[in-house]
Amino acid sequence: MIKRTRVSQWSDGVLLMGRFEWFGTGCWLLHHNGEGAIVELPPFNPTHQESPANKAYNVCKKRKIKVKYILCTHTHIDHFNPQVAREMQNAFPDAEIHLQRGFQEIAGFLNNVYYFDHDSKLNLGGESLFLVHAPKHSWTDTHIIFKGVAITGDWELNTLRAAHDDKPKYRVPQDAKLAAIDKMSRFEHDFNYRIHKVYSVHANDRREGIDFTALMHDTKVDRSF
Ligand SMILES: [Zn+2]
Repeated sequence: MIKRTRVSQWSDGVLLMGRFEWFGTGCWLLHHNGEGAIVELPPFNPTHQESPANKAYNVCKKRKIKVKYILCTHTHIDHFNPQVAREMQNAFPDAEIHLQRGFQEIAGFLNNVYYFDHDSKLNLGGESLFLVHAPKHSWTDTHIIFKGVAITGDWELNTLRAAHDDKPKYRVPQDAKLAAIDKMSRFEHDFNYRIHKVYSVHANDRREGIDFTALMHDTKVDRSF
């Protein structure tokens, strides 16, 4: 039986539309003034799950939200699924897909893709939407910042460690990780913008009322010993 995923509002304009497959990657909708952005293109199990594209289409139709952007936090297979990306593009043919440059190899089959190298500032219904390249868990890590919320992909917080440190093919070297954390620790100051909530894209780490800059400083601490 196909189970319909429940939509839950995590913050003003930030909805979790569902968590997919056994690893539970979230597919999110950001919205403001009738414009929306889809975050994440996870694979799903069609034997018991509704597809993220179908879900997003119905959620946006019901709420009269026009999807302007399709986004993704990093290239790992539990976050970017080519079939789901294609379905999402078919569901929202006018949406622009904004991805970090490192997606180029796997996203070449999509139309309407805009690549950025470092950061990108988009506009959703008059509200700023920031995409910030910050490699720590993987080379394409992108933080998505909207309405005071940071969706931090698969970043491990409060530790310099990353899940793939022992895999030479995937790991981000320590100096690059430190540079990325430094960059994020300056974000609030550089953009004169306050981040008070942090969500992991898997929806298994939810922090509210936080001091983002302090959290970033604490994430530089190596607690792997
Ligand atoms: Zn993941």
